[in-house]
Amino acid sequence: MSSLLIRNGTLVTLNAKQEVVEGGSVYIEGTKIVDAGKFPDNRHHADRVLDAKGGVIMPGLINAHHHLYSTFARGFVPPGRPAVNFKEILEQLWWKLDYALDAEDVYYSALLVLLDCVKQGCTTVIDHHASPMCRDGSLDQIERAFRDAGLNGCLCYEVSDRNVIGGGVEENERFINKCRASGDDQVAALFGLHASMTIGRETLDRCVEIARRTGTGFHVHAAEDAIDEQVTLKEFGMRVMERFRAAGVTGPKTIFVHGIHLDDRELDILKETDSILLHNPESNMNNAVGAARWLDALKRGVLVGLGTDGMASAMIASARTAYLLQRHALHDPRVAFGESCELLLRNNAAICGRLFKDPRGVLQPGALADVIVVDYVPLTPMDAGNFYGHLLFGLNYAPVSATVCRGRVLMENGALSRVDEAALRRTGIERAAKLWKRIK
Ligand SMILES: [Zn+2]
Repeated sequence: MSSLLIRNGTLVTLNAKQEVVEGGSVYIEGTKIVDAGKFPDNRHHADRVLDAKGGVIMPGLINAHHHLYSTFARGFVPPGRPAVNFKEILEQLWWKLDYALDAEDVYYSALLVLLDCVKQGCTTVIDHHASPMCRDGSLDQIERAFRDAGLNGCLCYEVSDRNVIGGGVEENERFINKCRASGDDQVAALFGLHASMTIGRETLDRCVEIARRTGTGFHVHAAEDAIDEQVTLKEFGMRVMERFRAAGVTGPKTIFVHGIHLDDRELDILKETDSILLHNPESNMNNAVGAARWLDALKRGVLVGLGTDGMASAMIASARTAYLLQRHALHDPRVAFGESCELLLRNNAAICGRLFKDPRGVLQPGALADVIVVDYVPLTPMDAGNFYGHLLFGLNYAPVSATVCRGRVLMENGALSRVDEAALRRTGIERAAKLWKRIK
């Protein structure tokens, strides 16, 4: 079993006592942390030593809602006039882009953005995938990308009736069964659904039957825009969360993404069913769909996590945007400071605790050895009591110098260790250019 010592840094443990340890070290054997704290280098005999050079050593970050397939949209200008609302954004950009992807596009778009995740210190990604023209087997391509990048992933395919009725049901079922059979904890599965507004009654019932049989939760967009509530009310006579609860979609392993237009009763349903709410502030601002009421959900005791919805892979920046957006929207300079940090640092780890076996998001013995070094030397005192201030106003601008996932060094001194990054980027540029030509 290989061993690794990360030494000479300020340890931000994120343990129960929120300990911050100057001159701290982490000792790893295999995929697990064995020791974390202040101890002499010779306490353990490591195969490899990584010098943090006085930077911050902290747990790998978690992105709880990503769309890796959106990578090749970067720089793409959709044809025609600009979209004027959320429905047109879907129709003019995302549903054209996902339709044009082939299997190799799926692999490279995932791998390239996962390398960005490594660079941003993000070691676990919960992804939501769509590629209607290469649907079957697409989750295997993404799994291959996660394994090549060396990161942890939870995958799903977004079922909807928009291209064919029930498109993606079998792909979810196949991949869920594959993950269950393997018993491997690096790549896990959820059952993916697009949104209430694109899924009919029969398809939803089929999905729920499979999820129940396999003990799997769902990963689904909910009330991202008012249109989701409008369509659901018109076609099913219920609001989105009422429909999902009645159908059997809610539960502790189910992630409801966005929830911007949920009313008080629907937020209560999240709490009553112990379901997860997932906030993506940059995406919500980009799509001009509103400011989610995630503070109201937190007050009810709902587990609220943080993602980027494909916008980016920089999670500390996402926490900062969550903080700024709530203050701006509520006109209240007292709110959302600690809560924004906890979405990222506590709640995303708690969400992973419901989807994966190995505990993560903390530097303590027994936790998964997902550890990053941020090249951040504080200008002012930093301790357990004020770390969040350093996180949102300092670490968010500091480069990640090293990323370790499952005990393997993926990046050291800012350079990726396991891949030919330049060659991969060339491939990505070529594939994106061809993809753009296929989109009409
Ligand atoms: Zn999304």
